[in-house]
Amino acid sequence: MRSLIDKLYKENNLDKDKMLELLNNMNDKHKEYLTEKAHETRMKIYGNRVFMRGLIEFTSYCKRNCVYCGIRAGNKKAERYRLSLDEILNCCETGHRLGYRTFVLQGGEDEFYRDEKIVEIVKTIKEKYPENAITLSIGEKSYEAYEKYYEAGADRYLLRHETASKSLYEKLHPNASFENRRECLWNLKKIGYQVGAGFMVGLPGQKNENFVEDLMFLKELEPHMVGIGPFIPHKDTALAHELPGTVETTTTLLSIIRLLLPKVLLPATTALGSIDPLGREKGLKAGANVVMPNLSPTNVREKYSLYDGKICTGDEAAECRKCIEGRIIKAGFSLDMSRGDNVNWSRKLY
Ligand code: SAH
Repeated sequence: MRSLIDKLYKENNLDKDKMLELLNNMNDKHKEYLTEKAHETRMKIYGNRVFMRGLIEFTSYCKRNCVYCGIRAGNKKAERYRLSLDEILNCCETGHRLGYRTFVLQGGEDEFYRDEKIVEIVKTIKEKYPENAITLSIGEKSYEAYEKYYEAGADRYLLRHETASKSLYEKLHPNASFENRRECLWNLKKIGYQVGAGFMVGLPGQKNENFVEDLMFLKELEPHMVGIGPFIPHKDTALAHELPGTVETTTTLLSIIRLLLPKVLLPATTALGSIDPLGREKGLKAGANVVMPNLSPTNVREKYSLYDGKICTGDEAAECRKCIEGRIIKAGFSLDMSRGDNVNWSRKLY
């Protein structure tokens, strides 16, 4: 097992069978060694810095029906809201004042925001805050739409592949196409975005074989960012009574991803912090190097309810900023408020 971890550390790759062997035989001792190697790799490339991104959840309307998600279209109990351009700009102003140099605009797939509207939002933010990076996370769109957003100034795009297992994907995403979601990721890369893929950990029925598929897909796509977090049940979904993913499996996978893609930007996600009070710290120690505190107005936070027990829904942006800073430092890392681009990326000029 140690030799498998060494191989992964040195070659940044493992074949399918060896990857499965590694996952199937993970125990405390191997995990300790894996964590050490992942930490060493992150220190070599990004040092002990942790990049901060300000997250703005701007719409809880969604036309999709992802079975696990609290804001799925079919959830009649979900409270819906949309932020206006002015409200989004207010979040940006607060964020900029607090030192954030990346804004992440995330939302359900909400057709109220037509492509022109997204372009207007991106352009307006870019004009006001030219030094800031803008990340979009608004789901599956056409190649042309992605291109328009990029030309308007969007730098990054988060679109988790959710799971690389076709059968599991199809069970969890009614009326959606496994192939299209993956195609979107390739399109985003081609256009020139820094692209974030990623998956949930601990979905009902998910096995180590499925994680191997996720890891192989990530290695093939080579995204600049990878967002992974535990699946957490939401009370108003069909998965309400399923078990959540664990911190242990999530941190193991974080470490493997750090070794597979040494330069990747890897967040310690809010979901990880929601299943364990020290989840994000554990993520950082396992190789993660990004956190995404919330900049959304406090009166809408509870309504962006993807899963139960989401942390930080009551805190003002400034409190979140202070809290996370304290946690990062206490865990032995340092805060990096710069844009924090992937070391392999620069903007394509048209
Ligand atoms: N509409 C955008 C953003 C989706 S929400 C898109 O399609 O990409 C952001 C992420 O939250 C999703 O990609 C999913 O991985 C995660 N998520 C949704 N419901 C969840 C749950 N119940 N538990 C954990 N993560 C969840």
